[in-house]
Amino acid sequence: MSMSDNTQSKIIQVEQVSRVYQLQSFAPVHALSDINLTLQDGIFYAFKGRSGSGKTTLLNCISTLDKPTEGTVTVFGESVSQFDLETATNWRRLHVGFIFQTFGLTPTLSAYENVEIMLRLNNVHPDERHERVVECLDMVGLKQRANHRPHELSGGQQQRVAIARSLANKPSILIADEPTGELDSKTACDIFALFKSIVQIEGLTILMATHDPLADDYVDQIINLKDGRIIE
Ligand code: ADP
Ligand code: MG
Repeated sequence: MSMSDNTQSKIIQVEQVSRVYQLQSFAPVHALSDINLTLQDGIFYAFKGRSGSGKTTLLNCISTLDKPTEGTVTVFGESVSQFDLETATNWRRLHVGFIFQTFGLTPTLSAYENVEIMLRLNNVHPDERHERVVECLDMVGLKQRANHRPHELSGGQQQRVAIARSLANKPSILIADEPTGELDSKTACDIFALFKSIVQIEGLTILMATHDPLADDYVDQIINLKDGRIIE
């Protein structure tokens, strides 16, 4: 494989993607209309736009949680929009980390266990597991809180645990859907700064949906959506 092929394969390509939701006897909803995008590796992207503009649908079509009605999504050379359900699940487990507005931690598990569970799911050897859990908690500044359960942590700390968990399997892409929606603006900025440093440390790509203008100072590139289309 030549150098240029290598470079070519480390991009996310969204080509003529539309997503129409057709609920019985209602008018169809055009969540995405003819989206074309090329996303580079190692970049922190923000997808912005009002509620209902299609941010979540676009992220889901890239991460394989959803499928375009038309068009294709290619991630690092793989045509992910053609995957069947099982292939998609396995691919996500290996390549994608998810962070959501509501953190999604397991309340009965400690911070440590919440991170470790992802490595168990991928059958990582126990010795290696321990090392990676500590490394990930350290990256988000929570090594000292390893034994705390989610309810013993602040919202910002809980989101940091969720970020550590999303990093556990060394994904190539982090998908963060409104990650600061439940946080105050100071804490939100701390999270944006953390994402920025993670892109540098881990060399991965972050795709973040947000309508927080404070994110602008931290991201590498902003993509604006309106009514399911990209606008300048
Ligand atoms: P955002 O994340 O920017 O708020 P979404 O991608 O969630 O936007 O939604 C885009 C549009 O698609 C909205 O009009 C929304 O109501 C619609 N939509 C999203 N998911 C579904 C679904 N599962 N069924 C029907 N309509 C949906
Ligand atoms: Mg959304």
